[in-house]
Amino acid sequence: MPEKAYQRGLVWLRNDLRVADNTALYRAGKGCKAVAAIFIACPQTWRSHGDGDNVVAMRLRSLRQLQAALEKKHIPLYFLECPEFSNTPGLLSQIVEKLQVDALFANAEYPVNELARDQSVRERLKQQGVPVEYSTDRTLIPPGSLTTGSGDGFKVFTPFKRAFISQHDNSGEAFAPLPSPRAHGADHGDQWPEWIALDGNSNLVRRIPDTVGDYGLAPGGEKKVLDWSAGESAGTRALKNFAEIIGDYARWRDFPAQENTSRLSPYLNCGAVSVRQCVAMALAENGGRWAGSNEGASTWLDEILWREFYQHLVVNFPRVCRNKPFKPETEKVPWSNRSEDFERWCEGRTGVPIVDAAMRQLNQTGWMHNRLRMVVASFLTKNLLTDWRKGEHYFMQQLVDADFAANNGGWQWAASTGTDAAPYFRVFNPYSQSKRFDPEGEFIRAYVPELASLSDRDIHCPPREGTSADLFAQDGYPAPICDVTDSRKRAIEVFANLKS
Ligand SMILES: Cc1cc2nc3c(=O)[nH]c(=O)nc-3n(C[C@H](O)[C@H](O)[C@H](O)COP(=O)(O)OP(=O)(O)OC[C@H]3O[C@@H](n4cnc5c(N)ncnc54)[C@H](O)[C@@H]3O)c2cc1C
Repeated sequence: MPEKAYQRGLVWLRNDLRVADNTALYRAGKGCKAVAAIFIACPQTWRSHGDGDNVVAMRLRSLRQLQAALEKKHIPLYFLECPEFSNTPGLLSQIVEKLQVDALFANAEYPVNELARDQSVRERLKQQGVPVEYSTDRTLIPPGSLTTGSGDGFKVFTPFKRAFISQHDNSGEAFAPLPSPRAHGADHGDQWPEWIALDGNSNLVRRIPDTVGDYGLAPGGEKKVLDWSAGESAGTRALKNFAEIIGDYARWRDFPAQENTSRLSPYLNCGAVSVRQCVAMALAENGGRWAGSNEGASTWLDEILWREFYQHLVVNFPRVCRNKPFKPETEKVPWSNRSEDFERWCEGRTGVPIVDAAMRQLNQTGWMHNRLRMVVASFLTKNLLTDWRKGEHYFMQQLVDADFAANNGGWQWAASTGTDAAPYFRVFNPYSQSKRFDPEGEFIRAYVPELASLSDRDIHCPPREGTSADLFAQDGYPAPICDVTDSRKRAIEVFANLKS
């Protein structure tokens, strides 16, 4: 695109809520004399996708911060609410006409409904002669561009990673973050109206409201995510802080009490931080290599590639977006789906301390450590033989970092229904995981105070009534919901039977 090819450009922001290293914003700044931005909230679609209050609150709080940052650059940010994605082509068509926009810029999103929405917008605006440019920004490379020798999308992580690194090692500059758009003159901001009326009772305004659909978003109203500062400044701070400890990541990342992971997921998912900024930081710590001499940075870059892998997967295998297992034969698993089991799992009352501590961490903070996500997902789907989709939905509802691709990928992995799935006979033993990764019970004590006085040994599996250790039986803490050995056997049989 030649410099300043257009008079007026509109940037449609979605989950890319930052000024720095934002490809759509950068390209609009380069290609247009005047730039405005828009965010369209679609609460009905968000609900139907399972987005819970926490992730939406994080998104909207980050948006407020972004609006202030853009204003400093004299780029107005408009806000619009409409029920569903399907409303966006018609509304954008009116908006580009009323704002006299010459081109629309956005960063691509990949789940099927998002792709379909973006395609409809492109077709609709084409009729008005307004080009729409979608950029690669949420991922490092365009999904679909990395394929096996036979031209298919990768189904297994390790070959995907090998192919990625062989093509991109020592090419850090390809992922170098882009500069922020320069500030426009004060008169630039004045070229855009304060608000415009659209057909069907909706208005385009410059104020982000306190409620969107039935999401109550008044600042301070989101109890569970209060610990999470929102926005680009908080995300940038988290990235900087993590750079200080990345060298220890390989050693401590699996220990939930250590708080040694980056906790960048909420920022990556609403786009307050970009994946390129993460990669630039880690490559700088790793001599510019994906697999370099800093073991912590190399291991962390692997996790960034897991994120990339799952984003590519939804494009290569869109059936995972349709509530379907990746492996069709696992559609026949006879899930027991006992509602009491599910409720106790959700509430952190299974009687298995590490599972309960993890679920309470989720319920109280909107986040859960990765090791524990694997443990609780395995426990729900294997030991309690509950359909992975119920757990997937509950996570979407609770997580402040809820992301369809990573969440679906993680759940299907744990349930052995997905690509790269854990083989069905590998079932996490929650007690061994607990002893190994929370050896002194520090994490359990933090979230299950009823058990705080138990010894480091007993806390993983509290002694039950009738045993000599009954003296220490704790405050109404429930008996285990199932016997992990028997339930493991049952799960393996169920999956083995699918083969016959
Ligand atoms: C059942 C299950 C559900 C999950 N649901 C989500 C979800 O909704 N949103 C989400 O962002 N992650 C999800 N994950 C992946 C992972 O647990 C989180 O990304 C991680 O715990 C976030 O913490 P962090 O930022 O400190 O991670 P770090 O360990 O610091 O990793 C850095 C980044 O790499 C990415 N990443 C790390 N591990 C994974 C992984 N296994 N899959 C994909 N990306 C990864 C994340 O973007 C993360 O922020 C899920 C995993 C499982 C097993």
